[in-house]
Amino acid sequence: MPKTPEEIIRDEIRARTAYHVPDAGGMVKLDAMENPYRLPPELCSAIAARVASAALNRYPDPGARELKARLRAAMQIPPGMELVLGNGSDELIQMLALAVAKPGATVLGVEPSFVMFRMLATCAGMGYAGVTLNQDFTLDLARLRAAIEQYQPALIFIAYPNNPTGNLFDASAVERVIEAAPGIVVVDEAYHAFAGASFMPRLGEFPNLLVMRTASKLGLAGLRLGLLAGPSAWLQHVDKVRLPYNVNVLTQLVAAEVLQHMDVLEAQATVIRTERARLLTELRRLRGVEAYVSDANFIMFRVAKADQAFSGLKQRGVLIKNLNGTHPLLADCLRVTVGTPGENAQFLRALAASLDS
Ligand SMILES: *Cc1c(COP(=O)(O)O)cnc(C)c1O
Repeated sequence: MPKTPEEIIRDEIRARTAYHVPDAGGMVKLDAMENPYRLPPELCSAIAARVASAALNRYPDPGARELKARLRAAMQIPPGMELVLGNGSDELIQMLALAVAKPGATVLGVEPSFVMFRMLATCAGMGYAGVTLNQDFTLDLARLRAAIEQYQPALIFIAYPNNPTGNLFDASAVERVIEAAPGIVVVDEAYHAFAGASFMPRLGEFPNLLVMRTASKLGLAGLRLGLLAGPSAWLQHVDKVRLPYNVNVLTQLVAAEVLQHMDVLEAQATVIRTERARLLTELRRLRGVEAYVSDANFIMFRVAKADQAFSGLKQRGVLIKNLNGTHPLLADCLRVTVGTPGENAQFLRALAASLDS
């Protein structure tokens, strides 16, 4: 008799619930921080021409040389810093965890933050320590210092701006964390396009600092492309964990083409930032809504009854993210991605109606 899954599958994996992505069929989709805008037709034609001539019978360039050169220019990677690419930045988080997962090693993150930090640490067989943010979602340096002292984390993740709260942490507080850390600190800049601050220019200033970015929130979520930048002393080892062809031919070609037109993506990001300001003002006009300032392409807000507002929105064809129950600091909180002006107007109408009913 073979053993049962209960006997064979690791306890911490069986204890997990599968990462659930809701079906958004036909709804106004404001749940996943996607850029609502498509690429202009000329750029789509240039992409089509590249794809038509792609050698799909060959494995991709394992070094992704053209794409890396484009990324270096587009993201202003400081000279002398190394790059590792991932099938989305989620894969980079996984690679980092696999590279440091010695028995008993710990990943440290703040809470609430991006759920993949905990999930991928667990999947790699590591411990995870979550340090609760202050009530106003700022870093609690005293608690962080104590947790660093206690757990001696091999890896610390700081999302900058943070997801789901939307705020940028105080840069000097992040520096204190980097200085106190015994291991790697990854500043995850998934929302860089919508924020006015970055640790990218500061790579090399701290020997243990790595900066992660993604093309997803910039408008290329379907491509799956993330990048990790930092000193080769670390990245040469992370790269050994990478599967050789993790970034496929089509992603390499299409991203290399689009990155030559960063002005297009930046113009879209500017529109989204303007729309974010308008959406915040409108949300704050609604009675019973407390909306938080955001440096990302989404806004977190609190209502009296989040579950009711969420299902009211859903009934009216608008899908956002319900954060109620995910962390004590997020009681009755919801998160909405900034969409087109039309989508945002539809969301605001649906929210107002859901709050009234
Ligand atoms: C969305 C998000 C990512 C993951 O992005 P992918 O590159 O699409 O895997 C990483 N970090 C944070 C904080 C995010 O919100």
